[in-house]
Amino acid sequence: MILDIIKIRKDFPILEQKVNGKQLVYFDNAATTQKPIQVIEALNKFYTEQNSNIHRGVHHLSQIATTKFEESRITIQKFINASKSHEIIFTRGTTESINLVASSFGKKFITDGDEIIISEMEHHSNIVPWQIIAEEKKAILRVLSFDDNAEISIENFKKLITPKTKIVAINHISNSLGTINPIKEIIEISHKKSIPVLIDGAQSASHIKIDVNDLDCDFYCFSGHKILGPTGIGVLYGKEQFLNAMPPYQSGGEMIDTVTFEKTTFKGLPFKFEAGTPDISGAIGLAKAIEYIKSIGIEKIAEYENELLNYATEKLISINGMKIYGNARQKSAITSFNIGNIHPYDIGILLDQLGVAVRTGHLCTQPIMNHYNIPGLIRASYAFYNTFEEIDIMIDGIKKVKQMLE
Ligand code: PMP
Repeated sequence: MILDIIKIRKDFPILEQKVNGKQLVYFDNAATTQKPIQVIEALNKFYTEQNSNIHRGVHHLSQIATTKFEESRITIQKFINASKSHEIIFTRGTTESINLVASSFGKKFITDGDEIIISEMEHHSNIVPWQIIAEEKKAILRVLSFDDNAEISIENFKKLITPKTKIVAINHISNSLGTINPIKEIIEISHKKSIPVLIDGAQSASHIKIDVNDLDCDFYCFSGHKILGPTGIGVLYGKEQFLNAMPPYQSGGEMIDTVTFEKTTFKGLPFKFEAGTPDISGAIGLAKAIEYIKSIGIEKIAEYENELLNYATEKLISINGMKIYGNARQKSAITSFNIGNIHPYDIGILLDQLGVAVRTGHLCTQPIMNHYNIPGLIRASYAFYNTFEEIDIMIDGIKKVKQMLE
């Protein structure tokens, strides 16, 4: 065994509970991951010993809170290998990070007739903000489609680029199909034409080693809660040259230098993009989560999750009527499927009765549902604290549910 799962599971107290009288099997990790006790304790410690607002106070607690908050920024900087800590902007999550770029980059750099490239397998969070700015600026959204294996083609991508392309925004890993996209190639091709690239890393930050310097992406976004951290905190990494050139997204306290009724001047990075009191405990909790991941080793996590994926896929396809959506050669530990004509909600609700938590529905990717002409999917997404035995429980559950419904 690559990981000491028994030891790891002791760090996640929530996994010990029973749901509907059955041992909980938590396979909704792509929606949000569970939190290790180390993160929970860091939050507890913050509110029992360190709580204060940051950056403004000269007093003891404010200085501790400020130091912890800024140390968290450096932990994140190192985790994704950004060159400068002020290239790390704290946000509420991936959604806010993408909205920030779409709105602020859009205001500055996108004009009438320009084009924005996204893919057909984006989460709504990486579609709608671009649609809104495109409408405002009379720009055009170009969509890179995916093929029968749920893969995008580099040749098709090259064809979509025109002299009008202003930005490419694409996910690293699809939350519905599990596809790991060839982002390095996409970035290289785009940069040859001086087009910046935003990577939606919501599904990749906790599964793949991220090195923004090596990737050379211009923006990279992720959410704390999908990487063992708290909800309400997220990250936007942006290259200094772009962040400096972009106007503020929100305004108010923390982000100003001087204010008079005639004119306001803004602080430099990262504060220019962090208006108002941030999620201080969230940032500290996220840094703890990253330390936890580092202590286990992200390469080992990836290897183990890949074994879970292979095992689950093999077992799932042995079920009669099973159709798995997303068979990319490079795939993350996500299995989305339907069985015969059974509605995904029915399977989800009955699996819950057996203690198995899966997600059902459009998974915030309605264009993917339209691509396949289906109402929804059942998604089981795995994390490194899951076990092969839990997959067996889900498979037995699916077989029982199938018998009941057919
Ligand atoms: N992009 C992808 C690929 C996602 O999976 C998600 C969350 N499901 C998001 C964006 C949005 O993340 P959040 O809700 O944390 O902002």
